[in-house]
Amino acid sequence: MAAKLIKGTEIGELILQEIISEVAHIKGKYGVVPGLVTILVGNNPASLSYVTLKIKTAHRLGFKEVQDNQPATISERDLLALIDKYNKDDSIHGILVQLPLPKQIDEKKVINAIDPDKDVDGFHPVNVGRLMIGGDEVKFPPCTPAGIQELIIRSGIETGGAEAVVVGRSNIVGKPIANMLVQKGRGADATVTVVHTKTKNLADHCRRADILIVAAGVPGLVKPEWIKPGACVIDVGVNRVGEKPSKDDPKRMVPLLKGDVDFETAREIAGHITPVPGGVGPMTITMLMKNTLKSLKCRLGVQ
Ligand code: NAD
Repeated sequence: MAAKLIKGTEIGELILQEIISEVAHIKGKYGVVPGLVTILVGNNPASLSYVTLKIKTAHRLGFKEVQDNQPATISERDLLALIDKYNKDDSIHGILVQLPLPKQIDEKKVINAIDPDKDVDGFHPVNVGRLMIGGDEVKFPPCTPAGIQELIIRSGIETGGAEAVVVGRSNIVGKPIANMLVQKGRGADATVTVVHTKTKNLADHCRRADILIVAAGVPGLVKPEWIKPGACVIDVGVNRVGEKPSKDDPKRMVPLLKGDVDFETAREIAGHITPVPGGVGPMTITMLMKNTLKSLKCRLGVQ
C-alpha cells in the first residue's frame, strides 16, 4: 500500500493560520505586531527568492517587515554596525541575515553579532546551547529541524522509543534534529543514530529506522531497499536536477527538484513520506515566522 503523504504545504498553512489569529489577538491587546528584518547582501538569485518568500509570508501574517538589501561590496564592519542597529530597535523582534554571505565577510562573526533574543534562525551559539539543554531552555529552535518535528507530531507519528536515523550532520539540519529527537518530551524521546559520509554500512543503519530523516544533499541517495516497511521517511534534500516547464506558463522553465530519497519507489514501502517539493520546504519559513512571534511574546511576557 502506498505511504501516506506528509504534506508540508497543508500543515504549514494550518500553522500560519494559527499565527495570524495570535498576531490579531496580540495587536488588539497590546497594540504591537511581530517585527522581522531580512538582510540580503548582494543579489544571489536563490537567496533573493528565499528572502522574497519570507517577506511575502511576513506581510500576509500582519508582521512589520523591514527589507534591508545591501550591496555585495558591503564591508564586514558596516554589516556588523547594521546588525547592531536592529539589535537596538525595539520594533524588531527577529533578525534574519540571509546566508551565504560574500567572501569578505566572516559568517560566524555576523551570526555571533545578532542578539540571541532576536536570533529567530536559531544559529547563534547561545541558542545552539539552549537547544542542547532542551526543555524550557529552548528559545528559537532552528527552523528546518523545528519544521521536521512539527510534521512528525502533526502526522501522529509515535517518536517515544522509536529508532530514528538521521542521515547528515550539518549544523542547520542533521545535528539539531538529532538533538531535538533525543530530548525528553513530545515529538522526541527517540533512540537516535546520526550517519554521515564516514559511516560504514549506511544502508544497514537506515534499514533499522522507524523514522528516517535524510539531509545529505545527494539526489536519490536512499534506495527503497534501505527503508524499513512502514517507516516514516522525512526527505529534507532539495536538489536541482534539471529544468521543467512551469505549470502556470509552459513556455517558462523552472528548476526540477528531487529529494535525497528515491520517492516513487520509497512510497511503496514507507508508512509515511514527505514529497519534494511540498514536504519539509514550506515548513522552514513557517517556523521562522513562529519564532518571530515567539520573540515578541517573550518580550511581552505572554505564553
Ligand atoms: P550539508 O552539505 O551542510 O550537509 C550534508 C550532510 O550529509 C553532511 O554532514 C554529510 O556528511 C552528509 N552526507 C553527504 N553525502 C553523504 C553520503 N553519500 N552518505 C552519507 N552522508 C552523506 O547540507 P545541509 O545544509 O544539511 O542540507 C542537506 C540537504 O537539505 C540539501 O539538499 C539542502 O538543500 C536541503 N535543505 C533543505 C531545507 C528546506 O527547507 N527544505 C533546509 C536546509 C537544507
